[in-house]
Amino acid sequence: MSLLIDNIGELFTADPTLGVLHDAAVVADEGHIVWIGPNTAAPETDERLDAGGRAVIPGFVDSHAHLVFAGDRSAEFAARMSGEPYTGGGIRTTVAATREASDEGLRANTSQLTTEMLAQGTTTVEIKSGYGLTVADEARSLQIASEFTAETTYLGAHTVPSGADPDEYTALACGPMLEACAPHAKWADVFCERGAFDGDQARAVLTASAKAGLALRVHANQLTAGPGVRLAVELGAASADHCTHLTAADVDALASGDTVATLLPGAEFSTRSPYPDARRLIDAGVTVALATDCNPGSSFTSSMAFCIALAVREMRMTPAEALTAATAGGAKALRRKDIGRISVGARADLVVLDAPSHVHLAYRPGTPLVKAVVHDGDIVR
Ligand SMILES: [Zn+2]
Repeated sequence: MSLLIDNIGELFTADPTLGVLHDAAVVADEGHIVWIGPNTAAPETDERLDAGGRAVIPGFVDSHAHLVFAGDRSAEFAARMSGEPYTGGGIRTTVAATREASDEGLRANTSQLTTEMLAQGTTTVEIKSGYGLTVADEARSLQIASEFTAETTYLGAHTVPSGADPDEYTALACGPMLEACAPHAKWADVFCERGAFDGDQARAVLTASAKAGLALRVHANQLTAGPGVRLAVELGAASADHCTHLTAADVDALASGDTVATLLPGAEFSTRSPYPDARRLIDAGVTVALATDCNPGSSFTSSMAFCIALAVREMRMTPAEALTAATAGGAKALRRKDIGRISVGARADLVVLDAPSHVHLAYRPGTPLVKAVVHDGDIVR
């Protein structure tokens, strides 16, 4: 079935060769975009979606999310908002609840969150493990994640579980745990941070994971300016995520390499922390992605639009830069060329906004602006 989306007032392609088009139309066939042109020249198709003069954007690519978990940490959030600092230690609360949960319970929670995301225009999501922290619980987390996305990430090295020796646990994450998880994972990630895994431990996990055939990403420089970002660039990771505390050497490393800086402003919002400086990274020539970091502790939002609004208001990004980071940037962070942009040959993942311009995503924060979602060429909403 071919699908025509016509009467597009503003077509934000996130493709640098096409830019922003007006009075445009798009044709999808067999799940891919096959034609883009002026509205007046639109061809006949089987199905038609009239955008009614509204803006159309690529489906969001949320390249960083932790969706396989159980439990609730709203009390921890309330405590933080009354002045307690964020340390990352609360991850263990979710680990305990996740280990207790049934497969069915974890699957239902993941399903609810991915459904919520799609309704808000997210057509690709990456999902990490990291709340099991035993061989069996990490493997089942990834098995469940793989039912919802191809972009699955082994994050056995999320935190050292209570009572475990950090070096012994690192050896487990490099050995039997990795072996059990690798068949269900495309990526490996590590939380390289004071209080989690230091540079040597992170390097060990990442090197072993690369040997097992996994591509790399790193939770880096969220709470302190540690070695994570430079390690990510050195090992050719697709993405260094958080990048909140960067030295000049970190920015230089990102600018000289091919590693995307994935910024997660929902985490700074929810932990009442200073935001990363996206302007500094963009001006240095670094590719920036935006993602939700959706997780029950430090950033419990599934809304890419909310992250765009934060990035524009708090991180000195323009609305166009923020939307590009949430689409094409996320695609690059996942090393995907077929998503995150509207161009011929790309997958037909598009969102019709109930607004005349993409600027409304940041201009009208908190407003539901998704009129329709097209995923793989099908109108799914
Ligand atoms: Zn994260």
